[in-house]
Amino acid sequence: MATNGSDVKHQNGNDTFRHQEVGHKSLLQSDALYQYILETSVYPKEPACMKELREITAKHPWNLMTTSADEGQFLNMLIKLINAKNTMEIGVFTGYSLLATALALPEDGKILAMDINKENYEIGLPVIEKAGVAHKIEFKEGPALPVLDQMVQDEKNHGTYDFIFVDADKDNYLNYHKRLIELVKVGGLIGYDNTLWNGSVVAPSDAPLRKYVKFYRDFVLELNKALAVDPRIEICQLPVGDGITLCRRIS
Ligand code: SAM
Ligand code: CA
Repeated sequence: MATNGSDVKHQNGNDTFRHQEVGHKSLLQSDALYQYILETSVYPKEPACMKELREITAKHPWNLMTTSADEGQFLNMLIKLINAKNTMEIGVFTGYSLLATALALPEDGKILAMDINKENYEIGLPVIEKAGVAHKIEFKEGPALPVLDQMVQDEKNHGTYDFIFVDADKDNYLNYHKRLIELVKVGGLIGYDNTLWNGSVVAPSDAPLRKYVKFYRDFVLELNKALAVDPRIEICQLPVGDGITLCRRIS
């Protein structure tokens, strides 16, 4: 587990580039190593609009929920590598991962973005508009599950998504998976976020965990086990951010 990093010296000697403890999504062995990645490879390449959105989001009382800059960079490259065009995101918050996706898509690319909270999406929307990528996004306010149920009923939607990023209510991930496996293309990817859940997946059952960490832990453990034995997918769990499990549909 990472330390809180209060002892970390900065290459640039100031605190402008210092990541917050709350925004620290890394499970790397030291805070210094994570800071090194951010300062060396992430921040110098981060588009100005993503930096702006990250800084706006840092002031939000729920800033803990945002996707970290290194994971944003990863998602952006992944989407380009797989030439994704039709994508979905469940769990938008202020839109950092959404912007990373929108920037990576071609001009006619699409994102169906869902969140129960529109207010937070609207915080990031001016930045997304200024970046010239808002036309790629269709935002639906409300719980994602009923929308997915409706989509699955229409066979025309089956096998149409190249990439789906799931970053919402962890207790529903397996319910999402049942529907998303129908909607993603064979050869397409679903990314489930936070599958290492603050490192709590390996904590003893009586470990003193934050309330929300404790509450969702069993759901994350159950998801990880289920994905590992699902014959319809190949998986790769990466320790990026708080852990992301990529599932490639094979049948
Ligand atoms: N991907 C976002 C980012 O890059 O900032 C972070 C998403 S945040 C961790 C989780 C989001 O899921 C919250 O904005 C929350 O409102 C949303 N959410 C929670 N339950 C949901 C549901 N049933 N359907 C859709 N969104 C939901
Ligand atoms: Ca997340």
